[in-house]
Amino acid sequence: MNIEKIMQSLEVKHPGEKEYLQAVNEVLMTIEEVYNQHPEFEKAKIAERLVEPDRIFTFKVPWVDDRGEVQLNLGYRIQFNNAIGPYKGGLRFHPSVNISILKFLGFEQIFKNALTTLPMGGAKGGSDFNPKGKSDAEVMRFCQAYMIELWRYIGPETDVPAGDIGVGGREIGYLYGMYRKLARENTGVLTGKSLEFGGSLIRPEATGFGGLYFVNQMLETSGDSISGKTIAVSGFGNVAWGAITKATQMGAKVVTISGPDGYIYDENGISAEKIDYLLDLRATCNDIVSPYAEKFGAVFIPNRRPWEVKVDIALPCATQNELDEMDAKLLISNGLICVGEISNMGCTPEAIELFLENKIMYGPGKAVNAGGVATSGLEMTQNAMHISWTAAEVDAKLHQIMSEIHTQCVKYGREKDGYVNYMKGANVAGFLKVAKAMLAQGII
Ligand code: NAP
Repeated sequence: MNIEKIMQSLEVKHPGEKEYLQAVNEVLMTIEEVYNQHPEFEKAKIAERLVEPDRIFTFKVPWVDDRGEVQLNLGYRIQFNNAIGPYKGGLRFHPSVNISILKFLGFEQIFKNALTTLPMGGAKGGSDFNPKGKSDAEVMRFCQAYMIELWRYIGPETDVPAGDIGVGGREIGYLYGMYRKLARENTGVLTGKSLEFGGSLIRPEATGFGGLYFVNQMLETSGDSISGKTIAVSGFGNVAWGAITKATQMGAKVVTISGPDGYIYDENGISAEKIDYLLDLRATCNDIVSPYAEKFGAVFIPNRRPWEVKVDIALPCATQNELDEMDAKLLISNGLICVGEISNMGCTPEAIELFLENKIMYGPGKAVNAGGVATSGLEMTQNAMHISWTAAEVDAKLHQIMSEIHTQCVKYGREKDGYVNYMKGANVAGFLKVAKAMLAQGII
């Protein structure tokens, strides 16, 4: 495989798509060795075919705000690869959304979904719509307008979207309602639904829970565990909630949460009781920082990231490239032992390089956060079978899947000195499954 040639060609065809090019480069660099052991991959141009999405839908989304004014957003769905199953991947509603970000997320999703052991292809979608500051009625009208276009491209055996940043249970409900009306069927095409209409128990917490199961397994490979560790978490959304809840249950102490404007440091640890308080607060007001800091004696550090705090484990849970080289240096000098990326591509390439050089355990997003889409896969199975499993059943399956992903990463990522390069392991394991499926199915 000629990585330089592939990257140059992509840069010419897709100039400025930096997140997408970053994600492709990382995967190609780590699979090169294995790829070159299979001349049949090169002959079938597997790499060149894999790095381009099957198709991209771009559409306008006009909607009317509460003042009666017409608003216009852009909507997207990127169907990347369906060699091993229907396209599957979340929808992101955030003003930063563009083709590059969705292509990186869709590309990563191919390998993540392959790792879960479930039959799901890779996709991603979303809009530059910002749900923040919008009324409930505005969010509903936007979701309905978005689905009026999207519904033609998706289906339970074709493409199954889910949530991501800015798309939680409320948005999925509105999207699903419009899909059901337009398609005149009730097959559960979106995952992350409420329990009343086909959702799965554990799905809201699954990404964070799965992330902690994976991190604990990483620590266990060196005879350690999460119990007693101090953890920095970034973000303040769905994923951060699940991660904090499970970390606390497993006996660790989470000392930070963050938003785009700074972070909260709570040296006593963010306990289950405090999480309940925050959840109540978040439902009624936007500013949760000052009431939290006042009630629990925590501090808010404006315009800084939580990676300056001395911790054993760092868990990025907000967005891409949120932990850079400087942050990595600081964390390492403060005695960091493990990083679990629960956000997608949470660390910059320079930060990852430092972790690998210093033999810090580093779990990449596509492995660590795969519990979310895995549980979405379990939701699809329950919908298809018209049954619902108990929380304990879903949690046991999630645990089993995370354990299987960990095993695959170790199998393909273990180096001569015993250090496990989880990034390489996850990329190679995910790639091999998809490449073999593509090869078997011919040039299509
Ligand atoms: P979410 O509920 O919308 O929360 C996102 C969090 O990140 C919020 O605290 C948000 O702060 C913060 N954030 C968003 N954009 C940011 C930016 N540009 N700079 C700094 N902070 C930012 O989303 P989520 O579902 O928890 O997703 C978080 C991460 O996990 C994403 O990388 C997502 O792709 C990944 N992930 C999610 C799932 C899932 O099941 N939801 C599965 C796998 C991976 P504000 O609200 O203040 O903006």
